[in-house]
Amino acid sequence: MAPIYQPPLPPQYAGLTDAELAERILAHKRNLGKRLVILGHHYQQDEVIRFADFTGDSLKLSQLAASQANAQYVVFCGVHFMAESADILTEDRVAIILPDLSAGCSMADMATEEQVEDAWARLTAATADRIIPITYVNSAASIKAFCGRHDGACCTSSNARRVLEWALEQGDKVVFLPDQHLGRNTAYAMGHPLAAMAVYDPFADDGGLSDEQIREAKFLLWKGHCSVHQLFKEEHCDQVRAADPTCRILVHPECAWAVVQKSDLAGSTEYIIRTLDEAPEGSSWAVGTEVNLVNRLAQKYAGRKNIRSLSGIQCLCTTMYRIDMRHLCWCLDELAAGRVVNQIRVDADTAKNARLALQRMLDNVHTQPVGVR
Ligand code: SF4
Repeated sequence: MAPIYQPPLPPQYAGLTDAELAERILAHKRNLGKRLVILGHHYQQDEVIRFADFTGDSLKLSQLAASQANAQYVVFCGVHFMAESADILTEDRVAIILPDLSAGCSMADMATEEQVEDAWARLTAATADRIIPITYVNSAASIKAFCGRHDGACCTSSNARRVLEWALEQGDKVVFLPDQHLGRNTAYAMGHPLAAMAVYDPFADDGGLSDEQIREAKFLLWKGHCSVHQLFKEEHCDQVRAADPTCRILVHPECAWAVVQKSDLAGSTEYIIRTLDEAPEGSSWAVGTEVNLVNRLAQKYAGRKNIRSLSGIQCLCTTMYRIDMRHLCWCLDELAAGRVVNQIRVDADTAKNARLALQRMLDNVHTQPVGVR
């Protein structure tokens, strides 16, 4: 993939106030009407998400993009892999635009196509078992395409368990990309012991595994992680428990296994939102996920439910944060002038194979919490 670079915005954008930016963005929304759809991921900052026509997690937003019959332009206020998925799932007539090209995902960047091809050669040489590759949707289109080509699938944090069950019906073992934590937490909640899992390190010789370890493992977990969710630690759970034994701990399964084990509940972003929506008045929650979402939920239920971040430090998705009002305004100004900027395009062959993996995931949609065993 060509390097992704976001050139600096023209200097006049630095001089615009928030009110002026908001006025221009709203005017473009009015003028472009149904031809424009703005999508906002749950982790997006408030100053941007207020302009979104739809909010959701990455899969929900990609599906929404694909269902917009009149849309010509979809401005995806998320990160790069999400815009790629939207491009794969939408018709060619729709342009997917990422307001800032530098909004990537550190987790997705932890598995490159070359590394995964090397790993596949290593793993398939070490065992005659049938290996099914599964990738979290938080991965590059090329990794989704790899899984599609090799009879594997994508999964989300909502349906990871269902997809892993499906994978074990197709083959003997799974290689799970790129997030070791979602893989480990899901497999463990399904009843598999940690001893059935081995971590493949793309930077170590032979992946850091002997042939025997590869043969014995049921789950080969790629050594990747989310730089936001890894910030939640066991001691944060201990501190919450000591301060308020009634406070419930709710975390995303991208958190480390030890943190999930110390929590009361674990599940996807949509699961976290639903749990807090349905929580009784007066209840207290410490939530282990991205801070913009936690703060928004805390604000929504202020005075009724006590919601706070599990960690005292700001667990912020800094790449998502790069999408700001200035970049949103700039790409809409360009659209209004008849120029499509920052269009995310996945080549036809990659898209075809990635779509296979995404379709297998959609066939297995079955939302359930990853759970704490
Ligand atoms: S929160 Fe983590 S997984 Fe999600 S986009 Fe940010 S870095 Fe990637």
